[in-house]
Amino acid sequence: MRDIKFLVVHCSASGQKTKVKDIQAYWKNVLKWKSPGYHVIIEADGTAHELQPIELPSNGVAGFNSKIINISYIGGIDKDGIPVDNRTPEQKETLLRYLKRWKAMFPKAKIQGHRDFSPDKNKNGIVDKWERIKECPCFDAIPEYKDL
Ligand SMILES: [Zn+2]
Repeated sequence: MRDIKFLVVHCSASGQKTKVKDIQAYWKNVLKWKSPGYHVIIEADGTAHELQPIELPSNGVAGFNSKIINISYIGGIDKDGIPVDNRTPEQKETLLRYLKRWKAMFPKAKIQGHRDFSPDKNKNGIVDKWERIKECPCFDAIPEYKDL
């Protein structure tokens, strides 16, 4: 098994009804990725699709993929493309189920959002809003999952 240091939460930055197969086609045909972007992706109704075994890396955060597991909910932007936390209750439940399972397997792994990998430019120990290279997953994963 890989040495897992982070469990990373993403959003697909797409509409909530975007189909998993369309996201996969984008990775393959546009980005030319050989591996999927996430290990697990969760539809609005809470259905989880396991796209990659956790023993293998996925393509969630450049430079960190060998040490992380990536999970994403479909959504994360409003109709104008503005970042928004529009997770459905079902997606929240499925996210929690996977994060709990992986946290039990990798107790030392830190749960955080994609944006928490942004460089801490002023070195205050926190990735401040202005330092974020992107908004993904459009909510604060560190406080939300701190008790897992
Ligand atoms: Zn992301």
